[in-house]
Amino acid sequence: MTNDKQPMNPKYSLVVPVYNEETTILELYRRMQAVMDELGEVELILVNDGSRDRTLWLLRELHQKDSRVCYLSLSRNFGHQIAVTAGLNFVRGQVIVILDADLQDPPELIPLMVEKWQQGYQIVYAQRTQRYQEGWLKRLFAYVFYRLLRNLADVDIPLDTGDFCLMDRRVVDILNTMPERNRYIRGLRSWVGFSQTAIQYERDPRFAGEVKYTFHKSLSLAANGLVSFSRIPLRLSTYIGLLAALVAVLMAMLVLYWRIVAPSSPLTGFATIMIAIFFLGAVQLVSIGILGEYVGRIYEEIKGRPLYVLSEVGGLHDEGSTQRTSNSGV
Ligand code: UDP
Ligand code: MG
Repeated sequence: MTNDKQPMNPKYSLVVPVYNEETTILELYRRMQAVMDELGEVELILVNDGSRDRTLWLLRELHQKDSRVCYLSLSRNFGHQIAVTAGLNFVRGQVIVILDADLQDPPELIPLMVEKWQQGYQIVYAQRTQRYQEGWLKRLFAYVFYRLLRNLADVDIPLDTGDFCLMDRRVVDILNTMPERNRYIRGLRSWVGFSQTAIQYERDPRFAGEVKYTFHKSLSLAANGLVSFSRIPLRLSTYIGLLAALVAVLMAMLVLYWRIVAPSSPLTGFATIMIAIFFLGAVQLVSIGILGEYVGRIYEEIKGRPLYVLSEVGGLHDEGSTQRTSNSGV
């Protein structure tokens, strides 16, 4: 069955990154169908982020069956944020929605988001009130991280928001002009400004399959968020350095005082010296590490490699990418 509902320029574009999601993709499509029927002129862009299972094969099938479904396939796993970026480069709609493939972001919320857009908001982000069936460590990590980021970041990044959001075309056009490769989309989205609003939702458990965000990937996303939106970690070593200098002056005065008042008392302090050496050594190494995070990112950015490489495109014109066309490997 070929569906000819696909208009030349759909009004709504739904972007979904997929990585080894063979167990969720059909259910995602099933639940999306009702939403897509309700919206009318819509395209669903599924971005295959180098899956090693049957995901790409399923995407091709869906595209054959329903021409509203388009897909991009990246040549390897480039990561969630880059997969979303690739999708955003190709959207044709006036209203763009990003959501996860595992149905943790319920598609049924999209019409509610569209209502907010109709009221004049350019960005509608979904804010989680509950997280079901995610380990306590992940929940604790997320809780601490979002609060830390909120306090440190230069832009106002709302608490407990992920990438699940609706954006106006104008916002996406601006995101598409941002060349940085260490992308933290929810931060960039806040940076753009305009009128933004939240809708609250309870985050469902993953429909099926494994979590694709390993602890390592989550950690590196968190580091990206912090380093891309805050310079406070860099100043930390200056503050600690000043504090250590102050302690050193106080200690010197103390030693001088002892020498004058009680010259016969033996000045022992092996433990103190060792602690001071280790403490300052640690502070210096951590400072170098923090510096390294920033320098590493400068290095990554300066290389200017394309953000991603496409291996296959279904239902979309292979142009319109601002990131890729200049220096793509395709
Ligand atoms: N994902 C991706 N590339 C990756 C990791 C994840 O495209 O390297 C996709 C994944 O298929 C899913 C979304 O990003 O649609 C979120 O991943 P997941 O549900 O595993 O992580 P969570 O956000 O729930 O921790
Ligand atoms: Mg998930």
